[in-house]
Amino acid sequence: MENEIEFNCPYCGELNYTEVFIADGRSQEFINDCEVCCRPIEIQVNFDNEGNISIVLKNDDGFQS
Ligand SMILES: [Zn+2]
Repeated sequence: MENEIEFNCPYCGELNYTEVFIADGRSQEFINDCEVCCRPIEIQVNFDNEGNISIVLKNDDGFQS
């Protein structure tokens, strides 16, 4: 099952979309280049048992959510 997530770039603040594969109770991390400023955004996606998604974004300066 794939799900689209949206997030704001931690560098330029523009809205980005990407698709993630949902695995129950697991988290995944990947790097997605911003579509606007092309900088690499580290994204950690966490799923709970009900399929809800929470996202943690990381940039060079540390954490943002
Ligand atoms: Zn950006």
